[in-house]
Amino acid sequence: MPLVASIDQGTSSSRVILFDSHGAVHAMAQEEVQQVNLHQGWSQMSAAMISASVDRCIAKVAAANSQPIQAVGITNQRETTVAWDKSSGLPLCDAVVWNDSRTRDTVAALIERTPSKSKNHFQHICGLPFSTYFSAVKLRWLIDNDLNVQQAHDEGRLMFGTVDSWLIYNLTGGPDGGVHVTDVSNASRTMLMNLRTLTWDAEMIEFFGFEKVNLPTIKSSSEIYGYIKSGPFAGVPISGCIGDQQGALLGQRCIHPGDLKNTYGTGCFLLFNTGEEIVLPDPECGLLTTLAYQFGPSASPIYALEGSIAVAGSAVRWLRDNLGIIKEAKDINDLATTVKDTGGVYFVPAFNGLFAPHWRDDARGCIVGLTQYTNKAHICRATLESVCWQTKEIVDMMNKSASTPIRRLKVDGGLTASDLCMQLQADILDIPVLRPSMAETTAFGAAIVAGLGAGVWSQDSVFGEEALNSQGKVAVFENSIDREARNKRFAEWKIAVQKSFGSL
Ligand code: ADP
Repeated sequence: MPLVASIDQGTSSSRVILFDSHGAVHAMAQEEVQQVNLHQGWSQMSAAMISASVDRCIAKVAAANSQPIQAVGITNQRETTVAWDKSSGLPLCDAVVWNDSRTRDTVAALIERTPSKSKNHFQHICGLPFSTYFSAVKLRWLIDNDLNVQQAHDEGRLMFGTVDSWLIYNLTGGPDGGVHVTDVSNASRTMLMNLRTLTWDAEMIEFFGFEKVNLPTIKSSSEIYGYIKSGPFAGVPISGCIGDQQGALLGQRCIHPGDLKNTYGTGCFLLFNTGEEIVLPDPECGLLTTLAYQFGPSASPIYALEGSIAVAGSAVRWLRDNLGIIKEAKDINDLATTVKDTGGVYFVPAFNGLFAPHWRDDARGCIVGLTQYTNKAHICRATLESVCWQTKEIVDMMNKSASTPIRRLKVDGGLTASDLCMQLQADILDIPVLRPSMAETTAFGAAIVAGLGAGVWSQDSVFGEEALNSQGKVAVFENSIDREARNKRFAEWKIAVQKSFGSL
C-alpha cells in the first residue's frame, strides 16, 4: 500500500505520521513544543523552533520506516501568525499564537474604524467577526508594535504566513527558492480572504493596510505546491495543506452536508459541513463561516460553520499545572467519577475571554456554586462539564442555522480519552456521541488531501465502503438523563457564564 506522510503541527506538539489510504498508522514521531507567555494574555512560539521540531520528527519517522513515501501533507494550528524576512528567510519575531489576546485594543480600534461600528461588519466578505483570534488582527499589531516587523514592512521585506505557509516555505528551500503559499482553509482564518472568490479581498487588504505585505498565494487544499528540498523526504511532493480543524473534519470523513464533528484538544472546535453553500448565520449565533476544503484547483470549495471554544483541554492542564489537583491529565476522569455530580459547581474557563457563541474579550474565568461540601472531585467534574456545556451552546446555535436537526456528534482529540466526559457530553446534548478508535483524525485529514493531490489514491479509496469498514470499532455514548434535569442545569450554566462577563 502506498504511504503518505502527514505533518501535524499543533499548539502542544509537532507530529509526523505515515498513513495508508485506510488511515492505518505505519510510523509516527512526536515532539512537544513550548509556548512562551511573556505577559498575561500573551502566547507566542519561536517560529524557528516550530520548523526545527518538524525537521526532527521527519528524521525520526524516516529512520523507523523503510517504505517509499509518495506525498507529504501539512495540517497546522490555525491563525497563528508568522512574520519573516524575505531576503534572509529568518523570522522577524516569535509567532503569535491563535489564543493570544494581546490585540484587544487593536480589535476595538479596528471596529471603531468601520462605518457600522460592528464587530460583524465584514462577515459578508470573510465570514468572521473582529476578534483577537484571527491572523490579520495579529499582523496589524505586529506591524504597529514590533520594530523589526515594522522596518521589514516599510522596506517591502515582510513575509506573512500562517504555520502551514511557514513550514512549506522552509521545506521547499526557504530563501533559496522556497514557495510562499497557503490553502483556502487556512486563508479563510485570516479575515483577508473573500469566501466567494477564494482570493485576497482588496477591501480587506486596504482596510488592514496590508498593501506592502508579501502574502502567500492561495491554493486549493489538494495539489502539488512544491517539492521537499533536502533531508530524508527530499524530492517528495508537498501536495496537501489543511487547517487542523478542517483536517479533523476530513479525517472523520464528514464529507456530506449536515455532518458534524467536535475536536477536544487545547480548545474545542465544532465544524458542521454545509457543502457548496456559504451559510452566513445570524451574527447573534456567534458561528463562523469557514472554508472546509477544496479537493484541487478546479474542484468546488466546500464550506462549514464553525463553533470555536478557546479553553477545553487547557482547563484540564490548568488543574494539573496551576492547581496541582491532578498529576496527569488522565487522572481527571477517575477523580471526577468518584462523585455523582458537581454538587452545584460550575466552572467557566474563560481564561482569555470567551469565543463562540459569545465572543467576549472581557470575560474571565470563574468557579461558582462553591460550598463547604465542595471538594476537588467536584471541581474536576465541573471542568469536564464546562467543555460539554460550551459544546451544547454551539450545537444549539448550529441547530438554529441548519435545515435539519443535528442527529449525532463525531468526536476526537486528547480530551475524548475521558469516557466520563464523553458520557456527560451525550447526556448534555441528548444525541449519540461517536468516538473512533483511530485517534489521529487531524493528521489523517492532511494525509487524505496530500494523497489526492499527488494522485496517490482516489476519493473512493479513502471515503469508500472498504475504507469505512476498515475503520475499527467506534465507541458510542448515548444520553442517560431526562430533559428536565438537563434544562435546569443548562439554565444554571448560563447564569454562571453571565458572571464571567466584564472585568472585575
Ligand atoms: P492539541 O491538538 O490542541 O495540541 P490534543 O488533541 O493533543 O491537543 O489534546 C491535548 C489536551 O487534551 C490537553 O490539553 C490535555 O489536558 C487533554 N488530555 C489529554 N489526555 C487526556 C485524558 N486522558 N483525559 C482528559 N484530558 C486529556
